[in-house]
Amino acid sequence: MRFPLDMDYEEWCQLCREDWGEPSFRADQICGWLYGRRVFCFEEMTNLSKELRAKASISFGATLPELSKVEVSKRDGTQKMLWSLHDGEAVESVLLVQEGRKTACISTQVGCPLACSFCATGQSGFVRNLSCGEIVGQFLAMEKEQGAPIDNLVFMGMGEPFLNLEAFLKAVGNLRHPKMRALGTRRMTVSTAGIVPGILALAESNLGIRLAVSVHAPDDALRDRLMPVNRSYPLAELFKAIRFFQEKTGDRVSIEYMLLDAVNDTPAHAARLAERLNGLKSYVNLIPWNATCEAFRKPTRQRVEQFRQILVSRGIEAEVRRERGEDINAACGQLRQKERRGSQEAPSAREIQLKEKGTRRV
Ligand code: SAH
Repeated sequence: MRFPLDMDYEEWCQLCREDWGEPSFRADQICGWLYGRRVFCFEEMTNLSKELRAKASISFGATLPELSKVEVSKRDGTQKMLWSLHDGEAVESVLLVQEGRKTACISTQVGCPLACSFCATGQSGFVRNLSCGEIVGQFLAMEKEQGAPIDNLVFMGMGEPFLNLEAFLKAVGNLRHPKMRALGTRRMTVSTAGIVPGILALAESNLGIRLAVSVHAPDDALRDRLMPVNRSYPLAELFKAIRFFQEKTGDRVSIEYMLLDAVNDTPAHAARLAERLNGLKSYVNLIPWNATCEAFRKPTRQRVEQFRQILVSRGIEAEVRRERGEDINAACGQLRQKERRGSQEAPSAREIQLKEKGTRRV
C-alpha cells in the first residue's frame, strides 16, 4: 500500500504524468492541499476532476497517523500526543508553546535500539523505523489539530534519527520543499545520541538543519555505561565529527547534557565537560533528568545551577532547559510505555481519551 506523505515532489510529478496522464501541475495542486491547506482527503481536493479524486483515493492508504490520545499539561500547556500507525504501533509527539512560539517535537522510530539506561524509549527496545510519511505525518497532523501552522520542528522524540537516515532526510526534503510545506531548515533541529556517520552526512548535505548532540557524560567510562552507543563512537571520535560539522556549516552546535544526581553532575564532571567544549562554538542545554525508573535520581536545583555556573565561568554558554510537561510524562517514550502496560492504571483527569477514534483517519 502506498501512502501520500511518503512521496517526494518528483515522485508526485512522475505519478501525475506517467501513471495518470495528467499535467505535472496536478502535483503542485495535490502537494498544496496536503502540505499547505492541511486537507488530507483526496475527495476534498476540489480543483481536481472527480475522476482524478476517485483514482487518487483508491491508490493510497491513510494519509495521517490516527490520534489515539492527547495529554495537556496544566502547568505549561505542553501537549503530548500518542499516534496510532497503520500497523497498530504507536509513537509520540510533543507540542511546546513558549511565548507564543510553537515547536513540534517528533519521533523517527518506534522504540529505539540504542538502549540508553536513563531513557524510557531506550529501555522499551526497538520495533521499527518510521517511514518518511510517518515522520512528516506527525508534524502535519499536529498542525491540523492546531488548525494553524507550527513554526519550529525538532527531531527529538522517540528513536535515533541518524539510524533512520534515509527516511529522515526524505522527510526533511518534503517539509522544506517550496511546493510542499516550505518550512525553512533553520527552523529544524535534529538531535542525535552521537551516530558519527549521521553527523558527517548532515554536514555534507548542506541542508542547514541545526544539530544537537546528547553528550550526557564527559568521559568514556561513564558514557559507555549511560549510553552504550559510546562503545561504537567514543567521545574523541564524536567530538571530531562535531568539529567537522561546525567547520563545514559555521553553525553553533547544541550540546545536550542531562543531569543525573551524583552520577554525572559533580563539579569535576562540569570541569571536564568544559574542557571537551573548549574552542567549539556551542550552547549547552542542561536537562534535569525526568524520572522514568528507579535507577537514578533527579538532581536538586542547586546542583544543576552549580553545574551551570562552572561551565559559564569557563566561558561556555549554558542554560537549564525549563522543565516542561513533567506532569504529563513528557520525557520521550513514557506515554507509549504507559499505554502498553495496559489499562491497569485508571485514567487521570488530565487525560483526554479521544472517543471518535477512527473518524479522524483521512
Ligand atoms: N536519539 C536522539 C533523540 C531522541 S531523545 C538523542 O539521543 O539525542 C531526545 C533527548 O532526550 C536526548 O538528549 C535524550 O538523551 C533525552 N532524554 C531521554 N530520556 C530522558 C529523560 N528521562 N529525562 C531527560 N532527558 C531524557
